[in-house]
Amino acid sequence: MAMLYSNIVMHTQSQSDDTITFLGTGGARFMITTQILASGGLWLNLSGTEILIDPGPGCIVQATKRKLRADKLSAIILSHRHLDHAADVNIMVEAMTRGGFKQHGWLLAPADALNTEPVIFSYLRSYLEGVEILEEGKSYSIGNVTFTTPIRHIHPVETYGMRFTTAEHTFSYIADTRYFEGLRHSYDSELLIINVVFVEPRPPVDHLSLPDAESIITEIKPKVAILTHFGMTIWQAKPGEIARRLSQETGVRVLAARDGMRFEMSQLD
Ligand SMILES: [Zn+2]
Repeated sequence: MAMLYSNIVMHTQSQSDDTITFLGTGGARFMITTQILASGGLWLNLSGTEILIDPGPGCIVQATKRKLRADKLSAIILSHRHLDHAADVNIMVEAMTRGGFKQHGWLLAPADALNTEPVIFSYLRSYLEGVEILEEGKSYSIGNVTFTTPIRHIHPVETYGMRFTTAEHTFSYIADTRYFEGLRHSYDSELLIINVVFVEPRPPVDHLSLPDAESIITEIKPKVAILTHFGMTIWQAKPGEIARRLSQETGVRVLAARDGMRFEMSQLD
C-alpha cells in the first residue's frame, strides 16, 4: 500500500458529517463546451479529509462559489487525462498550495497523465508534497481515507475508477469506461457513483449508457446509486425521471446528481 503522509489532519469533524459534493454533473465534449450542466468533479469530505476528484473545466469557479477551500484539500485525484476530468488541475494545485507558498497535498493520476505530455505544468510539481501514479490493483491512503484502483477501465486513455473505504462506509466512483464484466466484480460498495454519458450504447465510443448502468446497479445492489457525468441525450431525457425509473426497475435507490448537490454519507445508515 502506498502511504501518503499528508499534513496532520485535525479530527474536529465527526464522521456523520461525511459528504460528497458534485461540483458539476456534465460529461463529454458537447455538454462541457456548452456548460449547460457544469463540470468540475467531486469534492469529498470524509472523516475530516478533503479530496478532489477529476477537476474538470470550471472547478475553481464551482468550488469557490460553494465556499469549498482548496487549501484544505489533502489530495487531487485524476481518473484519467481527458479535459472534462483534468482541465482545472493546474489551478487547483495552485489553490491547494496557496499559490505555492505552502508546499502541500498530493496529486494522484495514471502514468499517461504525467509522463509524455503531462497534464500538470512542471513548475507546479514542486508545490506538491508528492505525485503518486495510479496503477491497477493498488491501494492508496490519504489522511483518514483509503482507496483502491481495482481495475483498468476500457477508455481511450489510461483510466481508473476508485473504491473508497472510510471508518463507516464504502463507496465507489465508476469513472469513464466501456461496459465490461470486470466492473461488477470490482466496485462492490454501499454507494455507487456512476458516470453515465449516453441513453443508449454507442459503440465504438467507450462510455457507459443507461442499460449499462442498470446492469451494474442490479449486479452490485448498492444501498444508493448516483448517476452523473451526463451527456446531451441524458440531459434531454431528464436525469431525474431516468433515476426514478431505474429505482423502480432495480429496487435500489437511484439518484440523479444535480450541479452543487451535496450527498451526506449518513443517508447510507
Ligand atoms: Zn474520458
